[in-house]
Amino acid sequence: MLAAWLKARKVLLIDANETAGKKVRICGGGKCNLTNAAVSPGNYLGDPAFTAPALAAFDQNDVLNYFNQRGVHPKIRSQGQYFCTKSAQEVLDVFAKETGHAKKLFSTQIEGVGMTDGVFSVRTSKGMFTARNVVVATGGLSYPVIGASDIGMQIATTFGHTVVTPRPALVGMTVQRDQFWFKELSGISFKAGIRIGERYFEDELLFAHKGISGPVVLNASLYWEKGQMLLDFLPGQRVEKLLGKSGKSLSTLIPLPKRFMKGFLEAVTLTDKPADRLSAAEKERLALLHAYPFSPAGNFGYTKAEAMKGGVDTAMIDPETMQSRLVKGLYFTGEVMDVTGELGGYNLQWAFSSAMAVARTLER
Ligand SMILES: Cc1cc2nc3c(=O)[nH]c(=O)nc-3n(C[C@H](O)[C@H](O)[C@H](O)COP(=O)(O)OP(=O)(O)OC[C@H]3O[C@@H](n4cnc5c(N)ncnc54)[C@H](O)[C@@H]3O)c2cc1C
Repeated sequence: MLAAWLKARKVLLIDANETAGKKVRICGGGKCNLTNAAVSPGNYLGDPAFTAPALAAFDQNDVLNYFNQRGVHPKIRSQGQYFCTKSAQEVLDVFAKETGHAKKLFSTQIEGVGMTDGVFSVRTSKGMFTARNVVVATGGLSYPVIGASDIGMQIATTFGHTVVTPRPALVGMTVQRDQFWFKELSGISFKAGIRIGERYFEDELLFAHKGISGPVVLNASLYWEKGQMLLDFLPGQRVEKLLGKSGKSLSTLIPLPKRFMKGFLEAVTLTDKPADRLSAAEKERLALLHAYPFSPAGNFGYTKAEAMKGGVDTAMIDPETMQSRLVKGLYFTGEVMDVTGELGGYNLQWAFSSAMAVARTLER
């Protein structure tokens, strides 16, 4: 995208893949969730003072206008997410058309960047290139099968930048012994809530072979480091109300999959008895349906993660221009920096906003 916006410059785009935007192609299940109707620094793990200027200078409406003007009209979904109508190819076609002026070097590994007398030297598998400006847009570590690498963080450290330890984010969570019963539910999904610290997410929860996944878990994974989160298996309902004084069994009264209810009742040592025979202590245990404590063992790793958290520390990057505060002419965009968005189009929005900040600076 940056190459598309750098019209007045001589641009050399180097990518290890044989085409540009391989990750964009798989975004949003192939339909590419470009942005969201509501974007603010609060949707990101990262310093809000750093993200705010770029997000404001090229916001979600600017992204939508840019694509609208080029014949791409993303459609909005229930949580404000804008997806392509046909496929991510619509986005890639725009960028292919808009980067006709740029020289492109695909299937080329970047191996490192050095500097002599104020001029950068970019070492690649196809030889050395020199440049006055280098923009590190090498993304994060998720999905290594499509070329993700840590080269951007390596380049940053070469020039004295520090890196916040990278970890998988927007990823499923594995379970400890107490929640091994989740694994028996593989394939079941329903809407759930997760409270993690001050944050609360509500969306689909999916039970998987290794643990739990689905949008609500992916979002929680962004903010989880260690310790507990609380799962609400019945968001928007109150279990006491559902029970009433009924003589029907719990698994009949509670509108959750029977297989789930069986596992849950066993886990909290309750039997599937008629609701009107529950003791006060049993009712209290049943209330765990709204606040079930879950301490993940870990996550599904980079092969499944939709993003990386951590990355190049933003303290030494200018938020207005994305230029290194340590080395003139060195810029960063997108996921390689310590900025990670929630699910919903926020990561591409950040990639667009930060790339535009660089483009406007270099075009001045
Ligand atoms: C499965 C999946 C689905 C996603 N869906 C969405 C979504 O719908 N909406 C959303 O907002 N975000 C989504 N994301 C996240 C989003 O794709 C990224 O945050 C975004 O693409 C980051 O843009 P970037 O330009 O920083 O890096 P990337 O798009 O990752 O681009 C980095 C480029 O650098 C190249 N590169 C890396 N190392 C080297 C090297 N050593 N030499 C040469 N080239 C190199 C790579 O080949 C790659 O082309 C998804 C991610 C995944 C994995």
